[in-house]
Amino acid sequence: MSDTTILLGQTLVFDAAPFEAGPDAARHERRGAVAVRDGAILATGPAEGIAARYPQSKTVDYGDKLILPGFVDAHAHYPQTAIIASWGKRLIDWLNTYTFPEEMRFSDPAYAAEIAVRYLDLLLANGTTSVASYCTIHPASVTAFFEAAEARNMRVAAGKTCMDRNAPERLRDDAQTAHDQSKALIEAWHGRGRASYVITPRFSPTSTPEQLEALGALWAAHPDCLMQTHLSEQTDEIDWVLGLFPNARDYLDTYERFGLLGPNAMFGHAIHLTGRERDRLAEVDAALIHCPTSNTFIGSGLFDMSLARNLRVGLATDTGGGSSFSMLRTMASAYEVSQLRGMALHPAHLIWLATEGTARAMRMADRIGTLAPGSDADLVILDLASTPAIAQAAARAGDIWEAVFPTIMMGDDRAVADVWVAGRPVRGIQT
Ligand SMILES: [Zn+2]
Repeated sequence: MSDTTILLGQTLVFDAAPFEAGPDAARHERRGAVAVRDGAILATGPAEGIAARYPQSKTVDYGDKLILPGFVDAHAHYPQTAIIASWGKRLIDWLNTYTFPEEMRFSDPAYAAEIAVRYLDLLLANGTTSVASYCTIHPASVTAFFEAAEARNMRVAAGKTCMDRNAPERLRDDAQTAHDQSKALIEAWHGRGRASYVITPRFSPTSTPEQLEALGALWAAHPDCLMQTHLSEQTDEIDWVLGLFPNARDYLDTYERFGLLGPNAMFGHAIHLTGRERDRLAEVDAALIHCPTSNTFIGSGLFDMSLARNLRVGLATDTGGGSSFSMLRTMASAYEVSQLRGMALHPAHLIWLATEGTARAMRMADRIGTLAPGSDADLVILDLASTPAIAQAAARAGDIWEAVFPTIMMGDDRAVADVWVAGRPVRGIQT
C-alpha cells in the first residue's frame, strides 16, 4: 500500500495563463495543501478540505512558506557550468574564447559525468526540477547527463549539440554522423523513465545545409521529439547567418527550409525578429525561449515579452551565457528587461513563466509546471523571508504578490526551503 503525504503551506494555482487572463487567473490559498502519492499530485486545495479527504496521510507542514511547482528551465548548456560568469565577450568570441575549449573536455566521459552531477545538484539547490539542456558534440556527454538525471529521477530533455562547420575540428561532426548519433541517442533515451530527447543543431552558422537537412529528416521521423536551437540572438550574428545562407529570406528560414520549424521547436533568444518571422512562428505554434540574464550579460538585446500574448514563451537561464543557475534571478532579470521595454510584468506573469509557461513551451504542461492532480509531484517550497533584506520588505506585504515579489527580485538558493522530485524530498542529494 502506498502512502499519501500532505504538504501544507501557501499555494498558488493558475486557472488560465496570466498573459491571456491577467493576474486574476491565479488563486492563492493562505493555508493550502498539496496531497502527493506515488510520485504524483493527488489533489491541491484548501488545507482543511484536503486533510478531510485523506485522513490517514502523513503531513509535512511548511507553515507560511509558498509551495509552487518546481521551476522549469527551457534552455541551458550544462557543459558550460564551470565557465559561468566569464568576463568580457559577446556571442561569437564568447563561443571561441570560453565555450569551445570547455566543450572539448567533454570527450572525456568521466569529466562529462562530473559536470552533469554538479550541474543537476546546482539546479535542485535552486529549486529547478526540470530543464532542457544542450550537451556537446560527444554522445557520451548526453549519456552522462541522462544518467545523472535518472539517478535523481528528474524529468529532463537534452540532446547532442550538432556542428559541422565554423567550430574547432575536435568539435565538428558531419551531416551523417550527426544524424546517426542523434538517432542512436533517441533510441537509447527518448521516453526512458523521465528522459526526453531533443534534436539539437547548435545554430545555423555551425551547421552546413546538409547537416540541417539531415536533422530535419531525423525530426520528421521522430516528430514527438522536441527540437532546440538558437535564433536571432545578436545583430552581427544575423548578418553572418544571412551571408552563409544567401538564399534565405531571414534567419528563421535557414531552419524552415530544412524542415526544422514545427510545433515542437524551441528557439532560444529570438530577440531581433522580423515581422515575417514573428508571424510564421505564431502560425506554426513554435516556442520562443527568453534567456534574460544571458541577453544582458552577453549584450544581446531586449526580448519583447508582449510576444507572449500570442506565442508560447518559455523562460531560461542559458547557463553559462546566462549568469545564474537560479530561476528566481532569471525572473528578476525578465522583469528588468521588460521594464526597459515599457512593460511591467506582474509577479503572476513571472511565476507562471518559470513554471507552467515554460512547461508549455516544452510541451510538458500535462506532466510538470502545475499543481494539477495527476501531474508529477515536482515541487519547490519557497521561504518568503529568507534574508533580513527580503524579510523586512515582505513584512509590509498586503497580499501574496507583495509578499513574493521581494523574493523574486532578491532571492537566491537561500529562499529554496525544500524541493520535491517525483514525490520525494531530495534537497541535498549526495552521490
Ligand atoms: Zn544557448
